[in-house]
Amino acid sequence: MNKRIYLSSPHMGVKELDFVHEAFETNWVAPLGKNVDGFEQDLCNYTGVEYAAALTTGTAAIHLALVLLGVLAGDEVVCQSFTFAGSANPITYQGATPIFVDSESETWNMSPDFLQEAIRDRIRKGKKPKAIIYVHLYGMPAKIDEIHRIANEYEIPLIEDAAEALGSLYKNKQAGSFGDFGILSFNGNKIITTSGGGALLGNDKGSIEKARFLATQARDNAPHYQHSTIGYNYRMSNIVAGIGRGQMIVIDERVKQRRENYSFYKEELKNYECFSFVKEAENVKANRWLTTVLIDPKKSGGSTRDDVRIKLESENIESRPLWKPMHKQPVFRDAPYYGDTISESLFEKGLCLPSGSNMTDNDKQRIVEVIKTLF
Ligand SMILES: *Cc1c(COP(=O)(O)O)cnc(C)c1O
Repeated sequence: MNKRIYLSSPHMGVKELDFVHEAFETNWVAPLGKNVDGFEQDLCNYTGVEYAAALTTGTAAIHLALVLLGVLAGDEVVCQSFTFAGSANPITYQGATPIFVDSESETWNMSPDFLQEAIRDRIRKGKKPKAIIYVHLYGMPAKIDEIHRIANEYEIPLIEDAAEALGSLYKNKQAGSFGDFGILSFNGNKIITTSGGGALLGNDKGSIEKARFLATQARDNAPHYQHSTIGYNYRMSNIVAGIGRGQMIVIDERVKQRRENYSFYKEELKNYECFSFVKEAENVKANRWLTTVLIDPKKSGGSTRDDVRIKLESENIESRPLWKPMHKQPVFRDAPYYGDTISESLFEKGLCLPSGSNMTDNDKQRIVEVIKTLF
């Protein structure tokens, strides 16, 4: 059997172990320490935000953003439907209701039109949404200006889920730096990884300080353990942050490698009209975290996304359907939804191709050869 090719596996640089070693040598294994401070500073320098809090996961970062925005039980929060469950689950941790919104077909992210429709209808029904969570899916920046214009008009704060988009640019500004809060993930399959981790980004000092306080069990300033608010155990460890510091040295290289994967697939599959790719608008640079492709069975002689996925799997190559929209998930069956069938249709036709930055030229050649045998 050929060596397995993964969808997106961790890719370490050379400095990660040095930072981790240093933590061992100084016994800053715990609690917080120099690596956490250093990693937060690296994230600020890179994204251009003023403040960052390093956390255990991206999901925790979204949860804290909702807490900081005062989302409570019974509130409503608008969320992009076409995303990973980590974007939406924290809404329910607060006892709030997600209001799902469809995508537009250019960037595959939150449709400004359906967003506006959702806000208007929720207000008409008696509740103005407390926050909006929008996503740069697969690293493709959303229609940021349009979404922000609508949010500003209705004065609703924005949480920018840039979990998949570190290194993507919109009008020369880094993803994660646009929302009232930005969130990042360093989970195992993301463009850089700390094995597991996340960050909350923002420009308001008080909010990020409060996030750090809430993330360490909300301890009041007293010699004993005293608590006046409910806290969480969400802070990143100093060991994990050491990996992050090493990964931040290679982030630009990782973006370049992921973009090269995309260009390779696009070039190799250009003569097959059944394949289409999501395009960068002007003023946008996507990190191309995963290369995604739509397969139109009407133009492929009947071959579907699943035929390609199963064929690749039979050759020990991992690929995956696009995210199943949240409004189609059994767990969110009762949540209100505004939109058409755009995200559903992307889910039906779309496939994520292997996109690791550590794939060899041979790996890539093997993948496209397998795909071409079907067409
Ligand atoms: C990965 C991811 C998250 C959650 O991040 P974790 O670190 O895995 O908790 C949230 N949103 C999106 C779009 C993601 O891809």
